[in-house]
Amino acid sequence: MKAMLTGFMFFVTSTTLLSLHAAESIEPALNGSELEITRWLEDQEGNMLELLERIVNINSGSLNKPGVDEIAAIFSRELRALGFSIATLPGEVIEMPSCPGSNYNVDVTDHVLASKTGSGKKLLLMGHLDTVFPTSSLFQTFRREGDTMYGPGVSDMKGGLVVMLYALKALQEFGLLDDKDMTILLNSDEEMGSLSSRKYVEQQALLHDYGLVYESGSNLVRTRKGLGQARFVVHGRASHAGGAHEEGRSAIKELAYKIVEIENMTNYETGVTVNVGVVSGGEARNTISPCAEALVDLRYPDPQQGLDARDQFEGIFGDVLSYPIETTEITTDSWINLHRPPKIPTPESDNLLTKTLAIGRLLGLDIGTTDSGGGTDGSLSQAVGLPTLDSLGSSGTGAHSEREQGVVSSLVERAQLSAVLIQRLAAE
Ligand SMILES: [Zn+2]
Repeated sequence: MKAMLTGFMFFVTSTTLLSLHAAESIEPALNGSELEITRWLEDQEGNMLELLERIVNINSGSLNKPGVDEIAAIFSRELRALGFSIATLPGEVIEMPSCPGSNYNVDVTDHVLASKTGSGKKLLLMGHLDTVFPTSSLFQTFRREGDTMYGPGVSDMKGGLVVMLYALKALQEFGLLDDKDMTILLNSDEEMGSLSSRKYVEQQALLHDYGLVYESGSNLVRTRKGLGQARFVVHGRASHAGGAHEEGRSAIKELAYKIVEIENMTNYETGVTVNVGVVSGGEARNTISPCAEALVDLRYPDPQQGLDARDQFEGIFGDVLSYPIETTEITTDSWINLHRPPKIPTPESDNLLTKTLAIGRLLGLDIGTTDSGGGTDGSLSQAVGLPTLDSLGSSGTGAHSEREQGVVSSLVERAQLSAVLIQRLAAE
């Protein structure tokens, strides 16, 4: 951990003055086999849509283990057919503090690691099998209208998984996959912050030369904020709200004080934002609440800001704010995890980005770059030193809502982009 943090600081100082405009990449025109690949992919839209519809209609909310496992099995079969060896990386139960009677433990199912050896640069392709939509969601089915498709995960990121698979199929079709040294990591808990799979992402990142992530995005993302999450539980003392009010210690009251302090950490000028996204607690209107809990989201542009925010969280949770300080009946449990470091560009990752934009131009694609407040597994791999490009999946908007939609024509376009990119990166 210490070495990694030192690494973050190095990236910050070494890239402060770096501008992407400085590095226009010039790529040679598409050669014969690349033209064959892109032409072959032009005819694959129907097959891509058929697979996408099938997997979107299988619910794979992060906690729906059978659903996630079913998506894992489909991709394992497809990748095995392309010559990959498939290994299962075990999931785990992540324990969280919670009030008596509620259970916030996170039970993560297994992840898929597909690998094949070859020559040339070692490429790590990453995607997630899970979506944010639980089985109870009303948003469960694929639908297409013209060039727009709708459905849970249609762009985040089942569309991306299909793009990745068809880029590989295209290479295979022309005998260009066999010699590639590639690993594909498909995790099952990205939407919960990769709490179980983070170690696998970081291990694999250290073994490869380039990382490609198939999250959706109309533009390619250059920088991302770091993310943290926290669960806070306050234990008080129950008492009758009328008969013995003074004997109670309200956990809700204490949590309310803490929530104000936590929310006040947001500072738009520094880019640090905090969101208390879920709160619950109490037993009855006329009972002083014995327990209350909150789920908190943290975003920060700079690694040190994440560490500072964690210290602030700990301070707020170490103090009793709503009763005299000597009150011992209030106790707290907290779980704080800086689960994604900021994605800070390096010269190598900028080269990867400009190369991809240049290949996009060869293909007639109008793709730009953007910065994002959201995190991906690409932030994990980049932070341990792997030049990583994310948002290579299909184009779409409305992720994490029932408005989620994707652009049908981007499936073929992005598969073409990826196939040529993989071909050229491997040969570097
Ligand atoms: Zn995603």
